[in-house]
Amino acid sequence: MLIKGETGDWEVVIGLEVHAQVISNAKLFSGAATAFGADPNTQVALLDAGLPGMLPVINRYCVEQAVRTGLGLKAQINLHSVFDRKNYFYADLPLGYQISQYTQPIVGKGSIVLDLPDGSSRTVGITRLHLEMDAGKSLHDQHPSKTYVDLNRAGVALMEIVSEPDMRSPEEAAAYLRKLRAILRYLGTCDGNMEEGSMRCDVNVSVRRPGGPFGTRTETKNVNSIRYVMMAIEYETNRQIEILESGGTIDQETRLFDTVKFTTRSMRSKEEAHDYRYFPDPDLLPLVLDQAWVDEIRSTLPELPDEKKARFMEQYKLSAYDAGVLVAEKASADYYEAVAKGRDPKIASNWVTGELFGALNRLGKSIEESPVSAADLGGLLDLLADNTISGRIAKDVFAAMLETGKSAAVIVEEQGLRQVTDTGAIEAAIDGVLAANADKVAEFRSGKDKLFGFFVGQVMKQTQGKANPALVNEILQAKLKG
Ligand code: ADP
Ligand code: MG
Repeated sequence: MLIKGETGDWEVVIGLEVHAQVISNAKLFSGAATAFGADPNTQVALLDAGLPGMLPVINRYCVEQAVRTGLGLKAQINLHSVFDRKNYFYADLPLGYQISQYTQPIVGKGSIVLDLPDGSSRTVGITRLHLEMDAGKSLHDQHPSKTYVDLNRAGVALMEIVSEPDMRSPEEAAAYLRKLRAILRYLGTCDGNMEEGSMRCDVNVSVRRPGGPFGTRTETKNVNSIRYVMMAIEYETNRQIEILESGGTIDQETRLFDTVKFTTRSMRSKEEAHDYRYFPDPDLLPLVLDQAWVDEIRSTLPELPDEKKARFMEQYKLSAYDAGVLVAEKASADYYEAVAKGRDPKIASNWVTGELFGALNRLGKSIEESPVSAADLGGLLDLLADNTISGRIAKDVFAAMLETGKSAAVIVEEQGLRQVTDTGAIEAAIDGVLAANADKVAEFRSGKDKLFGFFVGQVMKQTQGKANPALVNEILQAKLKG
């Protein structure tokens, strides 16, 4: 995407660092619980509180989750990795350092395929994924003059997933985050819930002349929704272009996103890696994995979004776009497959992505909370397929299903919505309409073809929409010719 400036075109360059909270009942180096929403400081082991003499013990399950994620990102798994101490003071970091991985992370290079709104796709490189512990939380808004500290989150396992600076527009960044979140959810390694902070994003942005060298980047920290990420990129792009066009230079700095004004502002000049005095944590041995264990984890990976999408296109002959929409959430893909089983897959896809998703959107419900089950939607499609009801009536039946939770068959019976396929009855209705509109019949016969739709409409009205449209068309054609 090129941006027109006053001095020529610019291109935005984006790299994202995502902190994804590992799904695990216990923390990375202690046995404390990790449940969201617990009372402050009720899930804190002595280690998490930084008490003297406590030693970290690595949680095997968190390591397994990181490996599983790495495999899902088609990435290199490093059988030898090292935990380092990243030293800095923070009131909610009792140890005085964060245990992280630096030069030898558990996962190396991988990739993510983005599905763009126009149906095309694009690959973004993953630089690395490393394991680290989260800090606690400082609460500045609970007391007029005091800050409270909640250590429940201190020590919780995070995966920091770093992308290459491969994205070129806010839309691509959004597609990246959506796809990453989908993969993490399919894998069951992170719930991807940005509102609860289990997925947070640092947004690196720079601008350059198309094809030229990269510019200096700024990093906007801890942005917690996809919409805000897009806004932060937009704001930073314009801010940087303005500075450069008026002859200034960009400071490499860390910025904050203001969720009230939708702007970014400077927080601090960018720290360098050497400022943290990284060194290997003397309390932890290097992490050494067995290839056999990694292979075992690989053999348990579920079908991931890209593979599912390819299979849907092949097996159900869906467009890239429709398949992409259906596989975005595993629950939607499962729902679709239950509806499509033994039915016309294209019609099933139209109903799921059109009527159903539209309704869920309006109701603000997720697919898991759908008032119409896959079996019931399938039942509706069966009535449509065997001509019990027409397409038009099917929409009304679906609306009634949403409202009442009843099955299509029950609603059709209760409301007498069966389609009229009895040619005698349809003929009678047509004869009535033609007799009542003799003038229009004459006009039609003298060449006013457009009136055909009018006759169809009248017949449908006569039959309360229940006449089989194909039969109406056929018989009407014959009668008007005659
Ligand atoms: P740091 O810890 O200093 O933020 P990382 O290596 O963890 O460094 O992350 C750097 C991030 O910045 C990566 O996502 C990378 O793609 C991105 N990045 C690097 N250079 C640029 C640039 N010129 N413009 C935009 N993003 C960049
Ligand atoms: Mg960073």
